[in-house]
Amino acid sequence: MTHEADKARMIMALRQGGVTNMHVLAAMEGISREQFVAAPFRDRAYDDVTLPIGYHQTVSQPTVVGRMTQALEVGDRMKVFETGTGSGYQTAVLAGLARRVYTVERHRGLLKEAEARFANLGLVNVVTMASDGSKGWPEQAPFDRIIVTAAAHDVPPVLVGQLAVGGIMVVPVGYHESEGHTDHDQRLIKVVRTEDGYETEDMGPVRFVPLVAGLAVS
Ligand code: SAH
Repeated sequence: MTHEADKARMIMALRQGGVTNMHVLAAMEGISREQFVAAPFRDRAYDDVTLPIGYHQTVSQPTVVGRMTQALEVGDRMKVFETGTGSGYQTAVLAGLARRVYTVERHRGLLKEAEARFANLGLVNVVTMASDGSKGWPEQAPFDRIIVTAAAHDVPPVLVGQLAVGGIMVVPVGYHESEGHTDHDQRLIKVVRTEDGYETEDMGPVRFVPLVAGLAVS
């Protein structure tokens, strides 16, 4: 069964959602989102919604993946670090644009499933590790681009430190579990690393699962 009509509808939604970069649109057209969701959700794979991927996690909605990817301005010689592999969908989109994507996930089970998808798609420029992505990947730093696909409290200084000067990071911030805030307070922040610090740009409200410290036990 093909999903070409559904995929075309997703591309329309991306354009309407402000994703106009042709490289980003082509990369997203090249990846079949239905391969990244569990069987019961496959007919909704191209709807602009988050979908469950197990372990109480979700694959981000296509317009959010598109906006984050577009904001990263990824070039084909760049080294990208991703925290929160999840289903691997965002990773696969980035792999179509970057030289290499380093991605880490705290749930080993999710990472195994994502690795199987990367192998299936023949993606040879993705490097994976089960670890706490809030620590980054110091051995591979600096990175030209960093994407965090779970919500942090604030812009993570450790990750800013692993960004090359002139590099860009996108990160959802504002997850404060114990301070009476809600998920609705999250904002997507674009960070540009400068010689002596960083600049930020608020890209608007988003809703992500929280960035959780440490490897998951299961
Ligand atoms: N990019 C993913 C989105 C998955 S949801 C996709 O396209 O499917 C966010 C993911 O971040 C979850 O899988 C969650 O387990 C993971 N995560 C949360 N905190 C983390 C951390 N500290 N280190 C690594 N992964 C983390």
